[in-house]
Amino acid sequence: MKEKIDLKQFEGITKGKWSIIRNGSRIDIGVGTPDSYSPVITFTESLADAVMKIERDVADMNAIAAVPEMIAELKRMYQRENELLQSIGEWGMVICPRSGQWFEWDYGCQSESCVDEEDCRELVEQQNASE
Ligand SMILES: [Zn+2]
Repeated sequence: MKEKIDLKQFEGITKGKWSIIRNGSRIDIGVGTPDSYSPVITFTESLADAVMKIERDVADMNAIAAVPEMIAELKRMYQRENELLQSIGEWGMVICPRSGQWFEWDYGCQSESCVDEEDCRELVEQQNASE
């Protein structure tokens, strides 16, 4: 299974909602109101006009400004996934670390890609032990 993104590395980012702020002929991505804000990223005056005319650059700016919301949403999704996996695990179902397919613990992994391999339940136990 693909590793989750380590969200701890982003804990130091500027707090608050980021937005795109036109400041005269400059563009800033910042936190606050257009009258009073802390810039996170500044586009120089010479770049600002060019950036606003390029659809991809505007999309990139919107994506950058949405980073804190996306990190917060991803954090919620990781928590929800953990809760769901725990609930599903309580019903006796687990995900095979080799094939990524669900299987019922009591019957063992039935995936075709695992049929000639060692018991996938051992992989699950090793994975759980390392978490
Ligand atoms: Zn398997």
